[in-house]
Amino acid sequence: MKAAHPHAPAQAIASLWDSHHFSALDKSHLRHADIQPVLDEIADYPSITRETIGYSCTGKSIERLSMGSGPLIILAWTQMHGDEPTATAAVLDWLKLLHLNSTSNSLALGSDWTSLVTLHIIPMLNPDGAERDTRVNEQGIDINRDAKQLQTPEGRLLWQQVQTLKPDVAFNLHDQNPYYSAGPTAYPATIAFLAPAFHPDKHVDAPRLRAKQLIACMADTLSHWLPCHIGRYDDTYSLRS
Ligand SMILES: [Zn+2]
Repeated sequence: MKAAHPHAPAQAIASLWDSHHFSALDKSHLRHADIQPVLDEIADYPSITRETIGYSCTGKSIERLSMGSGPLIILAWTQMHGDEPTATAAVLDWLKLLHLNSTSNSLALGSDWTSLVTLHIIPMLNPDGAERDTRVNEQGIDINRDAKQLQTPEGRLLWQQVQTLKPDVAFNLHDQNPYYSAGPTAYPATIAFLAPAFHPDKHVDAPRLRAKQLIACMADTLSHWLPCHIGRYDDTYSLRS
């Protein structure tokens, strides 16, 4: 039998989201202009800082929002593929709920996580792709295939952030295709995780082992809210991954 969940129940979080989420982001296609008013609001929260870290091919700003001051550094970015906007809306809503939690403990997170973790979020890494609702950037390059050659300004920017921030954990957040199930079940995968292999033979080195262990913890925690809906992302090469 599972222990009682230490955090807020799903219904409480759902009603918080209903009351406070950014309804301007309730769209299937999110562009750079859509998120600017939201970034302006979030930048006013005393617990969050906003910094323009660079510009896309066509000169659209790429920004980073940061919260917390703890020793564990987490970096997450969204919409590296311009046509995958759901994580952008999710992280911005999440930051608002974390901000509200900082005064009301409405998420019942227990200890002060901001003294344990520094959280950096780059919403919409590929604003030019977002503008045209395409996977690739303005140069027609998939930024998720540019980690070594660094031909794109957006890929170089991400690399600079990794070099500067030296994150302990990094999350490359993509959309979840609704047609995939969580394993051989009838349940759609609401969220799926992948600890990508760094080596061609896919052996598990120390960072990948740590990523797998973290995923196991996250899946265990999330299973209280999403039983049967958590998948393991297929790591065979796919044009769409
Ligand atoms: Zn993607």
